Amino acid sequence: MSTQPTIVVAGAGIFGLSAALELQSRGYAVTVVDPGPVPHPLAASNDVSRMIRMDYGDDKLYSDLGAEAIEGWHVWNEWRGRPLYHEDGFLVLTSRPLEPGTVERQSYDLLTAAGWPLERLNSEITAERFPLWNSEHYTDGYFNPRGGWGEAGETVSFLASQSVAAGVDIRAGFSAEIVLVESGRAVGLRSSDGSEVRADNVVVAAGVWTPRLIPELEDMMSPVAQTLVYLRPTLPDRFRPPHFLPWGADIPRTGWYGFPANADGVVKLANHGPGRLVDADAPRDADPEVVEYSRSRACFYNDTWDGDFYITRHPEIEGLVVSTGGSGHAFKFTPALGGITADVVEGEPNRYAARFAWRPRGAVTKESTRYHGE
Ligand SMILES: Cc1cc2nc3c(=O)[nH]c(=O)nc-3n(C[C@H](O)[C@H](O)[C@H](O)COP(=O)(O)OP(=O)(O)OC[C@H]3O[C@@H](n4cnc5c(N)ncnc54)[C@H](O)[C@@H]3O)c2cc1C
Repeated sequence: MSTQPTIVVAGAGIFGLSAALELQSRGYAVTVVDPGPVPHPLAASNDVSRMIRMDYGDDKLYSDLGAEAIEGWHVWNEWRGRPLYHEDGFLVLTSRPLEPGTVERQSYDLLTAAGWPLERLNSEITAERFPLWNSEHYTDGYFNPRGGWGEAGETVSFLASQSVAAGVDIRAGFSAEIVLVESGRAVGLRSSDGSEVRADNVVVAAGVWTPRLIPELEDMMSPVAQTLVYLRPTLPDRFRPPHFLPWGADIPRTGWYGFPANADGVVKLANHGPGRLVDADAPRDADPEVVEYSRSRACFYNDTWDGDFYITRHPEIEGLVVSTGGSGHAFKFTPALGGITADVVEGEPNRYAARFAWRPRGAVTKESTRYHGE
């Protein structure tokens, strides 16, 4: 009889699949369940692009995690033989001087002190190098060559195929309804049609649907809709590097950021702002004023009360781990997330895990680069 420890993971987004791949490589027999198809059309991880940056104000932990993850993106690019991660750089534009105390200045100082070769901008440099931007308005900022964007849905497909190749059993068509608990220990998942997957450990990574499986988390996280806008310029090459790069424009004060034209000529922009509270199953409709003049849709952040993830053991149920709470900024960390989740499962020390531990709700706050609203 096999003594291989078993794990079932609920959710085939980036949290669930990165955990599955890492745990399988550590010797577990892993099953991932998801309503499917994978990538799921409503999953937050499923889109054309996501920003990848290590610019996090003075938040060294996220900055370090971002730098570590970027190393991982390069490894995955090599495995795949073509990029999932496009290191076009990250352009930080500001309409005000980079004064001490601003998030952008904190990022600039922290990253420069760490040895990253950031290039400071002014109106003249912006006018010459990035001519589509209004250089009279954006008078300051910097360019960070270590950053860019990732192909989001493709990353899910890549992780799913790598997982299957490594021996993970992915069961699409299984919508977990309850976590099975016996004598205070999680022993598996039961689906809405009554079928069960039993395992020694359970990881719940179901994005905005997570609190349905672990209701104790309802107070800690909520689905928040954010509108995505997709434009198709007639001359897409004008919106490509080196003249048009992944950007954030006064992002902590406006929320606006966006991407160069992708291979299909689509230029995407979005707002990393307050968003609007919704139900996890609400239609992914964009805000009405945006629908009028562009192709657009909504995607839901799983917003925690403090913007930090929950990658942690359940405080009362043995063998139950949660890995979620992306809060609109987890995608970039995908190559590092699986290791954190696996360390939490195994009870191994991990320098990032304390920040993502189970914690009660406190005073509401958000990730530093996010626009908090007026
Ligand atoms: C509009 C938007 C823009 C973003 N921009 C960025 C960005 O630029 N940079 C960045 O780093 N991050 C960004 N993020 C954040 C990032 O995309 C998310 O944090 C991340 O994708 C969340 O992954 P997840 O695995 O938690 O959730 P999901 O991708 O939603 O995956 C959850 C999975 O669980 C499955 N599931 C649901 N219910 C069940 C069930 N009952 N049983 C089993 N499985 C279930 C779903 O089908 C789904 O496949 C953005 C997010 C959004 C919404």
